[in-house]
Amino acid sequence: MADHSPDAHSPQKNAFQRHIAQTSDAPLGLEIERAEGVYLHTRDGREIIDFISGIAVSSLGHGHPEVVRAVQEQAARHMHVMVYGEFVQDTQSALAARLTSLLPGSLDRVYFVNSGTEANEAALKLAKKATGRHRFLAFRDGYHGDTQGSLSVTGRDVYRKPYEPLLPDVHFFDFNLHSVLESVTEDVAAVILEPIQGEGGIIPSDPDWLQALRKRCSETGTLLIFDEIQSGFGRTGKLFAFEHYGVVPDILTMAKAMGGGMPLGGLAASSRLFEAFMYDPPLNHVTTFGGHPVSCAAADAALRVLVRDGWMERAHRIEEAAKGILQGPGIDAVRGKGAMLGLQLTDSGLTRKTVQTCMERHGILLGWTLHSNTLIRLAPPLIIDEALLAETLTTIRDTVAACAD
Ligand code: PMP
Repeated sequence: MADHSPDAHSPQKNAFQRHIAQTSDAPLGLEIERAEGVYLHTRDGREIIDFISGIAVSSLGHGHPEVVRAVQEQAARHMHVMVYGEFVQDTQSALAARLTSLLPGSLDRVYFVNSGTEANEAALKLAKKATGRHRFLAFRDGYHGDTQGSLSVTGRDVYRKPYEPLLPDVHFFDFNLHSVLESVTEDVAAVILEPIQGEGGIIPSDPDWLQALRKRCSETGTLLIFDEIQSGFGRTGKLFAFEHYGVVPDILTMAKAMGGGMPLGGLAASSRLFEAFMYDPPLNHVTTFGGHPVSCAAADAALRVLVRDGWMERAHRIEEAAKGILQGPGIDAVRGKGAMLGLQLTDSGLTRKTVQTCMERHGILLGWTLHSNTLIRLAPPLIIDEALLAETLTTIRDTVAACAD
C-alpha cells in the first residue's frame, strides 16, 4: 500500500496524495523538478535515466530545444481559436502535409484529436459510418485505451468486466493465429490491432499473418485499423511499424510520441473514407481541442527533427545493443523491434525486484506493460548516447542477475 502519511517537507506531495484522484494504490510518486534529454530531475536532487520515455512519448528526449521553441513561438502567436476544422490554422496544415508526405498515398488525410484513445474512438466511428456495419474483430491482450469504445476492443477481461456492458458485437481472437481469418466476413466493419502489441507484452505480429489479414479484409470490404499509438513515430526503426510488414492499413491511429511531449492524437485514412465524417449528421465528430495549434507546432517540429537527424535509424542500434547485452541469469528473452522492447524475465517476483532495485540503487526508471507482470518495458529515448545506453543495459543485466541470485 502507498504511504499516505503527510510529508512535512513537501506540500506538493501532500496535495498530490490528498487532492489528485489516484489511479494506483502505489504510485511511483517521484517529484519532478524538470526533465531534460534522457534525464528526469527530482525535487530532492536525484538524476534519473528515463528508460521508458514517459511510456513511448519522449523519443527525442525531454524538452528537445526545437520542440520547445516551436511551442513557445506558437503559444505567443495564438493558442485555441476555434473548434476543430473551421479555421485554417497553419500549424495543423503544415503537420498534416508533412505527415501525409511520409505515408503511403492511400493515407492522404489526417484527423487530429487529443490522445490515443480518442484516435481509436474516431477510427471505430469512422469504420461504422463508412461501412454501414457494426461488428468489430479485435485481439486478446490488445490494448486500445480506456474510454468506452477503445475499452470495448481491448482484449483483457480484467479491465473490461467492471465496465460491461460495453460496445456489442465485438469478437476477440488470438493474436497471430489464422483462426481469425474465417471470421472476417462481409458484415465486419473493421479489424483493429496493434502491429506490435505493446501493453500485451511487446509481441510483434507475424508478417504472413498480417498479410493474410490484409487480403481477407480487402476481399470482404472490412477495414483494417492499425493502432500505432505506441509503435509509431520511429520507435521501431521506421516511422510506423507497418512499414516493416509491407501491409498498409485503411485507418492508422497515432498519438504518444506524435506531439513531441505535447498532447496530440490523430488518425490517417483516405479522402474517400473521411467523406463519411462530412455528412449525416454534419459535424459528425467535432472536437474542441483536437489538433490544438500548440500541440501541432510541437508535433511538426518533432517530426522534422526525427526525420532530419536520423533518429529512427538509432532504434535499430538500440535493439542490437539490448539483444547483445541483455543475456544471463534470470533473463528469458528480449522481444520487440527497434526501441520498443520487452525484457522477459523468469518470474514476476524477479521482475518487481529488478524494477525496484534499478530505480532505488541505480536511478534507472523501468516499468511493466499493463498486461504482463514478467516483462520489463524498455523504451529509451532514441537520442540516448551510445555509452550511456551500453552502461544502462549492463547495469540492468547485472541487477537482474543479482536479484535472481
Ligand atoms: N493504444 C495503444 C497501443 C497504447 O499503447 C495506448 C496507451 N498506452 C493507447 C492506445 C491509449 O492512448 P492514450 O493513453 O493517449 O489514450
